[in-house]
Amino acid sequence: MLIRDGRITSVADPADRRSLKADAVIDLESLTLFPGFIDLHIHGAAGIDTMDADAAGLRRISEFLATQGVTAWLPTLVPAPDGDYTRAIAAIEEAMRSTAGARILGVHYEGPFVNSMQCGALRQQYFRSFVNTDALDSLPLLANPAAVHMMTVAPEIEGGIELVHQLKRRGWIISIGHTRAEWGVLHQASAAGALHMTHFMNAMAPLHQRAPGPIGWGLLRDDVTCDVIADGVHLDRHALALILKNKGAERLMLISDAIAAAGLGDGDYEIWGESISVKNGRTRNERGNIAGSVISLLDAVRTMETLGVSEVNLARLTATNSAKLLAIDSECGSIEEGKRADLVALNAERKTVLVMVNGQVLVRSA
Ligand SMILES: [Zn+2]
Repeated sequence: MLIRDGRITSVADPADRRSLKADAVIDLESLTLFPGFIDLHIHGAAGIDTMDADAAGLRRISEFLATQGVTAWLPTLVPAPDGDYTRAIAAIEEAMRSTAGARILGVHYEGPFVNSMQCGALRQQYFRSFVNTDALDSLPLLANPAAVHMMTVAPEIEGGIELVHQLKRRGWIISIGHTRAEWGVLHQASAAGALHMTHFMNAMAPLHQRAPGPIGWGLLRDDVTCDVIADGVHLDRHALALILKNKGAERLMLISDAIAAAGLGDGDYEIWGESISVKNGRTRNERGNIAGSVISLLDAVRTMETLGVSEVNLARLTATNSAKLLAIDSECGSIEEGKRADLVALNAERKTVLVMVNGQVLVRSA
């Protein structure tokens, strides 16, 4: 592969490697090269929370994520008062101008238009209904024209379908989550442009034989993609296998849903105004709910490999499908000519040996 000015300029057959001339050569013998991982749902890492972080803090998360093979991510915001959103968006805006670590793609609003019956670790006092468009206009946006705006919504809340229409019209990526929506509402939401589901099976009404709800709908609909938290805590491995079998590697993607405690180990942390404990990789808030994960996508990759997922399909689950969902697949998400050189090389133990963002080597170990 030849890389020039941060882009992949050619991918040659290994037999032709001798004909390639380059200023610098990196030998990846015995390693597997993947497109850089894209995490579209992550609240923090390395002790930093996306709701509190300034631009320097976000850059530190970016640097940590790069060590995990993540080359692009969407800072994810939890329901909060307007002022908290404004501060978080300003920090993201500033951090997007820097080039340290994994690239920040934009923002993912997890809520605030979600169902209080499926709050998970989110604080329901900040949930909102969509009574008129002012409720959307009050959410701060990123001015950067390349920024991705994604929102997880529960379409059954008051005004939910109109909200999906409004988001679609404004170019948002819409995902269904924290929901108890019934079939008819889900059908309307998908017709309005919501064709993805957030941390599938978690924070959703369970599958019932007479009320299959969002889980039954997501498993059945071939035009709907889903993301999952493959941390060994949020989903039983057989549930994960069931999702994989139904959605296939083309319509499934991995997220971390990591919180600030990721990368720090077990302990007690103050996050989102609550005490969250981490024990043996399991998070728990004061209300007894799981409160996000402490994994990175690299851990999720290892989990999926235990289910027999091939390397080619791992690339789909970690990069290609997410790039498509975010409509940035002309830029990244696969190893092809013209794409950004966002790459991760893993060894047989699935440790990162080389991580590159825009053709710049950020991580390199023996
Ligand atoms: Zn989340």
